[in-house]
Parts: sequence; C-alpha cells; structure tokens
Amino acid sequence: MKPDLFEAPDYYNIDDLLTEEHKLIRDSAREWVKRDVSPIIEEYAQKAEFPKQIIDGLAEIGAFGPYIPEEYGGAGLDQISYGLIMQEIERGDSGVRSTASVQSSLVMYPIWKYGTEEQRNKYLPKLASGEWMGSFGLTEPDHGSNPGGMTTNFKDMGDHYLLNGAKLWISNSPFCNVAVVWAKNEEGRIHGLIVERGMDGFSTPETHNKWSLRASATGELIFDNVKVPKENLLPNKSGLGAPLGCLDSARYGIAWGAIGAAMDCYDTALRYSKERIQFGKPIGAFQLQQKKLAEMITEITKAQLLAFRLGQLKNENRATSAQISMAKRNNVDMAIKITREARQMLGGMGITGEYSIMRHMMNLESVITYEGTHDIHLLITGLDITGLNAFK
Ligand SMILES: Cc1cc2nc3c(=O)[nH]c(=O)nc-3n(C[C@H](O)[C@H](O)[C@H](O)COP(=O)(O)OP(=O)(O)OC[C@H]3O[C@@H](n4cnc5c(N)ncnc54)[C@H](O)[C@@H]3O)c2cc1C
Repeated sequence: MKPDLFEAPDYYNIDDLLTEEHKLIRDSAREWVKRDVSPIIEEYAQKAEFPKQIIDGLAEIGAFGPYIPEEYGGAGLDQISYGLIMQEIERGDSGVRSTASVQSSLVMYPIWKYGTEEQRNKYLPKLASGEWMGSFGLTEPDHGSNPGGMTTNFKDMGDHYLLNGAKLWISNSPFCNVAVVWAKNEEGRIHGLIVERGMDGFSTPETHNKWSLRASATGELIFDNVKVPKENLLPNKSGLGAPLGCLDSARYGIAWGAIGAAMDCYDTALRYSKERIQFGKPIGAFQLQQKKLAEMITEITKAQLLAFRLGQLKNENRATSAQISMAKRNNVDMAIKITREARQMLGGMGITGEYSIMRHMMNLESVITYEGTHDIHLLITGLDITGLNAFK
C-alpha cells in the first residue's frame, strides 16, 4: 500500500470551531492511525482478520469509552471529541471504527447507563483499557430492521436466568470476552443481560466470506441453555428503548466516522489528479474531474457542519433520535458516493489495494446497512416530520 500522505480537508475552517483540546485529541488519533493502522490495514483486510495488536493503541487514543467518566476508566471527554476520534479511526478503516464503536457505545454505554454500580466497576475499566473486548447482540437471523420481534429469551430459574436463542451479524463476537445481549423475559419484555465467554452453552462462531468490513470480526452469539447469574441483568432500563438508546450513541459516532472515510478518498483522488498525466496534462485539469472533486469537497463540508452541530446538541443533551438518524443516513450516503467517484478518478489503479478507496467503498456497504439501514433512517425522518408511521 502507498505511504499514508493524508491531509485533512477543512474548506470552511471548521477547525476554528474546535477547542484546543478537541484538536489535540483529533491530532493524536490522526497520528496514531498514520503510524499504526495505515501500514497494516490493507494486509489484514485482504486476509479478513482483525488486527488485535492495535487494541492497546485504540485504548490509548481514548477510543474505548471516550465520553465514559474517568472514574470508570473512560476518557471523560465531550461528544465532539468522541466524534473526532471516530472520524480519524474510520479515515483509516471502517472495520476498526466498528470495533471501537461497539466497545464504546454498544457495550460500555449500556453498562454505564443501565447497569448497577457493581457492574460498572467490574466491567468498564477492563473494557476501557482493552483488556476485555465486548460485543452487542440485538440482530437475529429473522429479526434485523425489526428487532422488537426477537425470539431470544430468558426464564427466571430462581437463583439464575436460563438464556436461549441466537444472534447474527455481531461485530467482535468471535473474540469478545463479554456480550451485552438483548432478550425477552417470560412476559415478553426486552432486557439486557451481560453474558461472559466461558459460560456453558455460549458459543460465538465466526461469519466468513464477507466482502465488506473484512478487518472487523463478525459472527454469531448462540445461547443453548446458558445459566446467567441474576446480577448480570442490566436493571435500570428495559423495553426496546434500551437497545435503541445505545444505537443512538453509536449512530452518532458513525455520522462522524463516515466523514473520515470520505475525506480519505477525496484526499487520495485530489493528490492523484495532480500527478496522473493523460493527454499531456494532469487529469485534475480536465473539467469533468474538477466537477467530481468540487462536488466531493462540497458534500464533505456539509457533512462536517451537520456532524459538528449535532455534536453541540449532544453535548447539551438536546439531540433527538431523529436528528441522529438524519446525520447517520446523510453522511454515510455522502461517503459511499464519494468512494465511487474517487474510485473512478483513479482509473484501474482505483481497484487495487495500493490505495484505500476500494476498501472504504466495500466497508461502507456494511455501514449503510448496520445500525439501521438507509431506508429505515429515512422512515424515521418521515415519521418525525409527519407524525405518521410508515414502518408497518
Ligand atoms: C458487518 C455487519 C456488522 C454488524 N454488527 C452488528 C452488531 O454488532 N450487533 C447487532 O445487533 N447487529 C449487527 N449488524 C446487523 C445490522 O444491524 C442489520 O444487518 C441491519 O439492522 C439490517 O437488518 P437485516 O440485515 O436483517 O436486513 P432486513 O431488516 O431484512 O432488511 C432488508 C431490506 O428491507 C428493508 N426494510 C426492512 N423493513 C422495512 C420497512 N418497514 N420499510 C421499508 N423497507 C424495509 C431494509 O431497509 C433493507 O433494505 C451488523 C451487520 C453487518 C452487515
């Protein structure tokens, strides 16, 4: 793979809106990605393996629980810092960002928000340091966009719960130490349970043959009469709103992360357009190529402003789920379109692993589907503005 020469576009001087701390956090994440992710990521994506050696680095840049309070091992940062860290990681690879998003927003967040003090103290410091890795089990083979239909269930056996069912498409599952699992009790109410690797009847087979997010491990979570201790139930929130609250936090991070992937493709295409000579001049001198680049930077700038404003609203606890849906949908769609234009600008070279563009393009096919599909987020906006439910 080519050396990482990335220079971040900032067409509207959005840096002026950031604090010194934001810039410091962003720049250290950017340096780490250049040093520890870019040189190895293509090889790991090609062999479809998560590079476990970067776990310590992810913890050091604050990617595991950026906004979780320091008393639990988190970085205690604001939401814009969280977004900037996700942007920088996804600039390197969406699969690596997925690992960090799951750990922070889908595992640490519910334990922090819905768990007991004992659960927080037991799990959060280990998850923040990367000593333990987590996964989040919501999706099932027959219930994706409609998670409320889940059939994974648990029964109260007096001194423990008995968990049965299966989850599919679970990021980090093949190597997770703990899984936050959503299941129905005997009354049909959804609750979160913390399941630990090593519990009898719990297995995590890997899903192979993905063309997307190849550097992220994905798999199943299978529960065959798993005895879960009663103290592993998350007591402070139940119902579908509990997992959806986690998804809000993760979707917000994706809205920033997608900008990173788009910035990387734009930067690569811009540099290539000045170096590649055809018909005696750089291809960047042709109007058709300038149109592509001009539209890319316009869309990136709009996405940056959307994410920044959403970050301000998140910091003030005012961001709605529908606002987060809009940003996730818009920014991932923006990024995927940019990967396709940038790929064309590189001609044949664009399909090789010498450049990051094709990897970003394939990764974003998962990002546009997980955490609510492109269509589902549109329906969320539709419901929000009309008050009419088009889901069913
Ligand atoms: C790589 C990867 C990693 C993932 N990681 C996790 C994870 O860690 N944890 C987890 O729980 N899940 C995870 N997922 C699952 C992901 O969230 C689901 O794939 C997603 O929610 C969509 O569900 P589905 O694939 O079953 O598609 P379906 O729900 O079957 O949807 C198929 C199509 O139908 C459309 N559709 C569905 N309902 C409607 C409707 N009412 N109106 C109009 N159109 C509709 C959808 O938009 C989509 O285009 C992951 C997925 C992938 C690909």
